[in-house]
Amino acid sequence: MVKAVVGVNWGDEGKGKITDTLAENADIVIRFQGGANAGHTIVNNYGKFALHLLPSGVFHQNIMNILGNGVAFDIDKFVNEIEDITSKGVPKPQIMISDRVQVMMPYHVLFDTLEESRLAGKSFGSTKSGIAPFYSDKFAKIGWQINEFYQDDEALMEKINRVADQKDALLENLYHTNKIDREGLLNWIKERRDKVKPYLGNVSLYLNDAIKENKTILLEGQLGTMKDPDHGIYPMVTSSSPIAGYGAIGAGIPPYEIKQIVAVSKAYSSAVGAGAFVSEIFGDEAVALRNHGGDGGEYGATTGRPRRVGWYDIVASRYGCRLQGATDVAFTVLDDLGYLDEIPVCVAYELDGKEIHEFPVTRDLERCKPVIKVFKGWKCDIRGISKFEDLPQEAQDYVNFTEKELGYPITIVSNGPARTDIIYRESKLKH
Ligand code: GDP
Ligand code: MG
Repeated sequence: MVKAVVGVNWGDEGKGKITDTLAENADIVIRFQGGANAGHTIVNNYGKFALHLLPSGVFHQNIMNILGNGVAFDIDKFVNEIEDITSKGVPKPQIMISDRVQVMMPYHVLFDTLEESRLAGKSFGSTKSGIAPFYSDKFAKIGWQINEFYQDDEALMEKINRVADQKDALLENLYHTNKIDREGLLNWIKERRDKVKPYLGNVSLYLNDAIKENKTILLEGQLGTMKDPDHGIYPMVTSSSPIAGYGAIGAGIPPYEIKQIVAVSKAYSSAVGAGAFVSEIFGDEAVALRNHGGDGGEYGATTGRPRRVGWYDIVASRYGCRLQGATDVAFTVLDDLGYLDEIPVCVAYELDGKEIHEFPVTRDLERCKPVIKVFKGWKCDIRGISKFEDLPQEAQDYVNFTEKELGYPITIVSNGPARTDIIYRESKLKH
């Protein structure tokens, strides 16, 4: 059975923790999009880890961890991340990388950095991991599938020249900087290709066999619906689709095999990068939420940047669940709201004097103001509680209200960063 774990909102909803928890009963975990710009924080008996590229199943020795064809494969970050976890005592995980995956080239990272500084104040808030230039090249058909690295020097040089002719025009004329070092790039490829060769495999064949054998496969999404290039807050989005449906493409499996879609949504909002964020809060209120948030504060797992924070946004989340096709909602980080006397929730938007309930297109979104409803806080620590009925009534009310407004079943409540901080909840809603 194939399950997807995906983000409802802007990312950082706690997908890593939910994947790591669900991985306990999985055979395969696969990343199907995005790259090393992800930051999934996992706390387990080996310690606390921020995974960027590796799938969140790497802490379970029986699990095959896969990087699917849809991923932006950063070789150096991949190698470093394996070294990092193994140096902290995690046994070497089983890993397979699609032989069709495309490689993050050094000039992608360079272009990302150059473009961010060219745009200066108007930038997209990129993590400068090369993601946008990478996916642009993929669809412009000048990307590098990893299998192309194993050609002879002449064929490699021919492709390098073809790509560099284009890149150099921009480097010289738009960014006024040095051209691509073509020989250097050839060496860069040759220095890396043998390191990753042992991991390469025919992922779609492997997965299709695994489906026949009834294995449990987790598709692990990065970011969330609001960052989808089609359905998100374009153009303040990422460059690959974080929507469960794309899991079929980015892993190479039939869409009808994805039977369960666990859509992860945090009990308040956070976002990184620029873009409209209707329920955002500022000042002391924001500082308090940020510092109480996540596990040790809402600061980027990849960049360390303070995340923008706000109240839970029903309008965005309902839309996010719908686009993901949520069969289950995992409602996370509920414990962190325990400090609040009152918990505001954004239940609708006001657009040009009218109340709206459907998430609008970006141009309208920018003019929306939050319509807030306030809940009574529970004012205590709810970590360690494992039954929904044992939560304080105010916390139950908050979850019940959210579920009713979303219209999607909340079947998992996460009340702490560790694997064990999890409550499975019966829902009367059917997806
Ligand atoms: P991801 O990108 O969706 O995997 O989320 P991140 O790992 O970037 O951010 C979520 C943060 O919340 C991390 O610091 C997690 O350790 C933490 N976290 C996840 N679930 C919970 C929870 O239920 N309670 C608390 N307090 N922290 C959580
Ligand atoms: Mg994250």
